Amino acid sequence: MERRSEGRVEVITGVMFSGKSEELMRRVRRAIIARRDVQVFKSHLDDRYSGIRHVSSHDGKKIEAWPVSSSVEVAEKVRPGVHVVAVDEAQFMDVGIVRVANALADQGLRVIVAGTDMDFRGEPFGPIGPLLAIAERIDKLHAICVICAERASRNQRLIDGEPAAAEGPTIHVGGAESYEARCRACHEVPAATDAQEELLAEG
Ligand code: ADP
Ligand code: ZN
Repeated sequence: MERRSEGRVEVITGVMFSGKSEELMRRVRRAIIARRDVQVFKSHLDDRYSGIRHVSSHDGKKIEAWPVSSSVEVAEKVRPGVHVVAVDEAQFMDVGIVRVANALADQGLRVIVAGTDMDFRGEPFGPIGPLLAIAERIDKLHAICVICAERASRNQRLIDGEPAAAEGPTIHVGGAESYEARCRACHEVPAATDAQEELLAEG
């Protein structure tokens, strides 16, 4: 019997600490158990937990991953015969990842993409919105708001423990020292003070 194509795009999204990497790794582990040939990529920008050769979740579990800096690199590095391609930290990728994910799925590959959907201001982050649009399956995960213990959907950036100003750079890679999971009501994005504006202007 001819095998049905498993070509599809799955997106795992949501706030930091919501368990996206854990869920990505769970799917990857199960695909490996199902004797699928799996290749994992992650943005070279994220080297927070164990160096860039692994996907790590906040609980410290690891699976080996290829660091990539662009969507073209993902397309180039996919080995012939691979059944499943997983991409973690996809919010840092260029929008070309949308075409690459679609092309791989069209070729019959299962593509699993994980990334946070909002930046620290609560605005759409990089290619995640368009990836949601082309996905067959979307899972939006939530964390626990560190302030009120409700469901958290927002990334709170902190600088020296205080909410970071909206004018800061969109990409600032960090873990628990610079980000918290918060709900909409507890999420704070103050405008920069004059002194902060000057610092930002100095770069
Ligand atoms: P993500 O990839 O979405 O950033 P991870 O899979 O790396 O998330 O980590 C999820 C884990 O983070 C949870 O299982 C939990 O142990 C831990 N964690 C830390 N802070 C929180 C929080 N505020 N809410 C939920 N889980 C948290
Ligand atoms: Zn809250």
